[in-house]
Amino acid sequence: MSTPSVKAAQNLSKSPAKKPKSKPAKSSGPSPAVMPTYARQNIVFEKGEGAWLVATSGERYLDFASGVAVNALGHAHPKLIAALNEQARNLWHCSNLYRVAGQERLAERLCEVTFADKVFFTNSGAEACEGAIKLARRYHFANGHPERWRIVTFKGAFHGRTLATIAAAGNEKYLEGFGEPAPGFDLVPFGDLEAAEKAIGPHTAAIMVEPVQGEGGVRVGSNPFLQGLRKLCDEHGLLLVLDEVQCGMGRTGKLFVYEAAGITPDVMAVAKGIGGGFPVGCFMATDEAAKGMVPGTHGSTYGGNPLAMAVGNAVLDAVLEPGFLDQVREAGLRLKQELARVKDENPDVVEEVRASGLLAGIKVKPPMGEVVGACLAEKLLTVGAGENVVRLLPPLNVTQAEISEAVQRLSLALKRVAKPAPKPA
Ligand SMILES: *Cc1c(COP(=O)(O)O)cnc(C)c1O
Repeated sequence: MSTPSVKAAQNLSKSPAKKPKSKPAKSSGPSPAVMPTYARQNIVFEKGEGAWLVATSGERYLDFASGVAVNALGHAHPKLIAALNEQARNLWHCSNLYRVAGQERLAERLCEVTFADKVFFTNSGAEACEGAIKLARRYHFANGHPERWRIVTFKGAFHGRTLATIAAAGNEKYLEGFGEPAPGFDLVPFGDLEAAEKAIGPHTAAIMVEPVQGEGGVRVGSNPFLQGLRKLCDEHGLLLVLDEVQCGMGRTGKLFVYEAAGITPDVMAVAKGIGGGFPVGCFMATDEAAKGMVPGTHGSTYGGNPLAMAVGNAVLDAVLEPGFLDQVREAGLRLKQELARVKDENPDVVEEVRASGLLAGIKVKPPMGEVVGACLAEKLLTVGAGENVVRLLPPLNVTQAEISEAVQRLSLALKRVAKPAPKPA
């Protein structure tokens, strides 16, 4: 056994002055061992059942966060569990050096139900967006125009946290302290076709847009805006790249948002809901747009791994079941109506209701964090977003009863924040 000597050698190489670590007094808060990049709620969940999460305290929470639009089928869906278990018994990983049956199957099925001819699987949304950016640049390279690599993007969007994707979205908060932003992105206001057209130059390769801005505050791009972008791309020989990481995969009641706008993109990034909680993402494209992506141009060790593909196929089975998306649209309508009523009842707290299917939110007057906190106190999970919006992202198979329950809890939460502060004695 070589392990002990290896360890001993490692210890020797360590500084002898290594500080004894002071143990945290109590495990009452988040562990300092986890890098504190998130302002986390002090709750640990240990079990999920459909739209419900059970905390270690035993308390049950109604989950209208869905891991930020990830748990599309709720928690512990029996078909997803079965698919994962079945695959886990056979093969976890084998590398993209070989054909992966589940990957071919999911890619073919996705191509069948979308505009796309080709799919590349990733592990996250940022990786999907990053891949879409690379594909767009590579397309023009393959066309003999390597100088066309810039991308017109929109303020308020979120494309992930890699160096390229934070530059693409241009959110100062996410760029600060990380050096010069990755070059190649020309940001214009969301919804502004004129500004988009002005930003197009001889170096432009593509326009990239998140058609319903989720993190940005449930800002719904209008159909004329999306149609206008398609037209601009056609006129200028650009690729239209959609980021449907959050709004796609049935969230708005269509499989993908572009269907409702009556357009097709050339490239699209998808993630979040597509894996139902297993890390899966992809970027897809037409044959023409993908023509630069030849062997050696891109890769991902885990992307399209057999476990991920087994779950991805099971999620798609459920979402494509007849009536599933009708039910999402119905539930979305119901949620929107109930939120409109809540707004009328709480004019001092709620400013606006924004929704596209089950991607819903309320723009509130008090600081959004207070409302999210008050919802938490009512055992309702929500997610904050830009423009002081509180997002409601239930699982796509949420029931009417659960929607009513959530709205009731939300009403109680709004009463909490609306209460005038007690006067000092
Ligand atoms: C969440 C999100 C991403 C990034 O996905 P990660 O899996 O966190 O990398 C990209 N685009 C949109 C629209 C998103 O909502």
